[in-house]
Amino acid sequence: MQLKTILNRVQKFKSFVYGPVRWVEAARDPMIEAVVQPRRGSRPVCSGCRRKRPGYDTLAQRRFEFIPMWGIKVFFLYAPRRVNCPTCGVRVERMPWAEGKHRLTEAYAWFLAGWAKRLSWKEVAEAFSTSWDHVFNSVEMAVTWGLAHQDLSGTKAIGIDEIQWQRGHKYLTLVYQIDASCKRLLWVGNQRKVKTLLRFFRWFGKERTAQLGYVCSDMWKPYLKVIAKKAGGALHILDRFHIMAHLSKAIDEVRAGEAKELKEKGYAPVLTKSRWLLLKRPENLTEKQETKLADLLQYNLRSIRSYLLKEEFQLFWSYQSPYWAGEFLDKWCTKTMRSKIEPMKKVARMLRYHRPLLLNWFRAKKQFSSGIVEGFNNKAKLTTRKAYGFKTYHAAEIALYHALGALPVPEAAHEFF
Ligand SMILES: [Zn+2]
Repeated sequence: MQLKTILNRVQKFKSFVYGPVRWVEAARDPMIEAVVQPRRGSRPVCSGCRRKRPGYDTLAQRRFEFIPMWGIKVFFLYAPRRVNCPTCGVRVERMPWAEGKHRLTEAYAWFLAGWAKRLSWKEVAEAFSTSWDHVFNSVEMAVTWGLAHQDLSGTKAIGIDEIQWQRGHKYLTLVYQIDASCKRLLWVGNQRKVKTLLRFFRWFGKERTAQLGYVCSDMWKPYLKVIAKKAGGALHILDRFHIMAHLSKAIDEVRAGEAKELKEKGYAPVLTKSRWLLLKRPENLTEKQETKLADLLQYNLRSIRSYLLKEEFQLFWSYQSPYWAGEFLDKWCTKTMRSKIEPMKKVARMLRYHRPLLLNWFRAKKQFSSGIVEGFNNKAKLTTRKAYGFKTYHAAEIALYHALGALPVPEAAHEFF
């Protein structure tokens, strides 16, 4: 069987044919070169208007990298024609295997982008002995295509979340669709300001926003402001994940402060290495951790009291009626305000202030569990943290859309992976 036969099976073009396919003994690694030629009598297509136009001249031969075979690099060799287009002027013809000035064939770019969903960009570059830039460009191409072809209709529920990225206080705003039928990342924005979220609503459009039934978010002020202004018709829910995250953060603060204090006073460092004990749900503790927790509970420490307050707050989520949940919330807040533990009091004040939005979670019949936003949040953090080697916002944005956007891909005649 000839390589040409295989190429014709996996990647056939209507107006082009494969010429000679040869094995090239190159300086470092051998490679395969396949000459591509216009089909006899076919007229070139203008890359501007995509119409068949008369030929003008022929440019020098160019190389386009195709999917490697058995670890051997494969190149298409083609001398592009230029067309004399009455609408666009003298233009390079459109080549169905590559867009614009790209040196990778589209098939290869989709192939790399597909692998970049499973491996980090660096790993993909290594696995196919290509460059990080080629992987990045491929993913960017896939994301651009996917965003242009995605269907946003029927979006009823969205979740708004922020993640920290890079070092320092740099944030990204992420908007997810969290409908039972479709969960995906819809939008990424730099920072977490009023104008960041305003940009989302501008992009999402008035009509789609009017269709929204639910918006879940954190208590972050700029978000609350924009949601009230732009999505007033939707039920705004402060979701469980974000609230429990605030409590965990408060406990962390109390514990760190107290551990430092105890150390200064010369007490045994009972609180060091206890961080996870206090943040974990009791049912998730190992036996050893349980013993350590029991040890800790003997002390009337602020960290322990905060921990118990947080555990008690878990009950809040088990209510069915917004009314009784509200009663519970009030009692919990009063108790916490009396605790004299400032970080916990801060959370209680915040919860009191946003009481109606908190109770909306019960009005929405708890259909938005903490798991949806939390799952996305973890994946998003992993995506930005993983050694992708990117430093710019643009690269982070592309990586997030690629990993979480559930973007469509074109139907290819042959699946290469
Ligand atoms: Zn044209």
